[in-house]
Amino acid sequence: NDARILQLEVTRYGQDEALVIVRDITRLHNLEQMRRDFVANVSHELRTPLTVIAGYLETLEGSGQAPQGWQRPLTQMREQTARMTTLVNDLLLLARLETSERDSGREQVAVGELMARVAQEARSLSGGRHEIRVDCTQDATITGDATELHSAFANLVLNAVRYSPAGGPIQLRWWVDQRGGHFAVKDSGIGIDPIHIPRLTERFYRVDAGRSRDSGGTGLGLAIVKHVLLRHSAEMSVDSTPGHGSTFTLHFPPRKLGTAATA
Ligand code: ADP
Repeated sequence: NDARILQLEVTRYGQDEALVIVRDITRLHNLEQMRRDFVANVSHELRTPLTVIAGYLETLEGSGQAPQGWQRPLTQMREQTARMTTLVNDLLLLARLETSERDSGREQVAVGELMARVAQEARSLSGGRHEIRVDCTQDATITGDATELHSAFANLVLNAVRYSPAGGPIQLRWWVDQRGGHFAVKDSGIGIDPIHIPRLTERFYRVDAGRSRDSGGTGLGLAIVKHVLLRHSAEMSVDSTPGHGSTFTLHFPPRKLGTAATA
């Protein structure tokens, strides 16, 4: 019970000298654990009341029995409740992902199918305002957790819709080379100033908080992507030009890939 967690930092100076710093990070580690548990518990506890509220609001709105002048407030209440449900679900998912960075899942997730599914979801969010193209040159499977991988892919594609003007094309691409499998989402949207890029995967970090909220973002999407990637030994790169668009690419190492069964 008295195990300590130590962090070693080694800096080499030339051939035969090195500076070793040992830090005891036990307290920090325990505090982080408490924070994660707390967030997970609160989010979990909030789910039931939210489900009940959303259920009654929907019934009342659809019943046609709402008092005069209450239709608009009711619609707003239902929309805000849905927003809060998304936020609570994202918080819970993130807290769960953060508890372990170890490889997760042994499912063989077919990339082609996953791309078709997230493209469909993006089309429905976009309401036909964006042209969404899918280009999967060589189908493959990724070893991992299907739900987590879906979250990662979907978050990138939904962001492309959120941060692009209507009519902007969005391209989903998957290809395999000797370095592994790569999933890229390219949009022609507002783009991101390079100074923001290193911080995008921090919880609640937003370039423009108002825009993110208005478009239904929770500020947790890319933090979720980052943790899903950690659990799949994968990495993300971002290439963006303000005013022209962004490309977010996920890189999966060869040992995570398999051959997809062709239908
Ligand atoms: P949000 O829910 O706010 O979209 P994310 O964690 O998914 O949160 O993204 C963090 C921030 O990164 C966003 O608020 C937005 O400012 C920026 N961002 C993410 N994707 C894009 C994109 N495709 N184009 C422009 N900005 C983006």
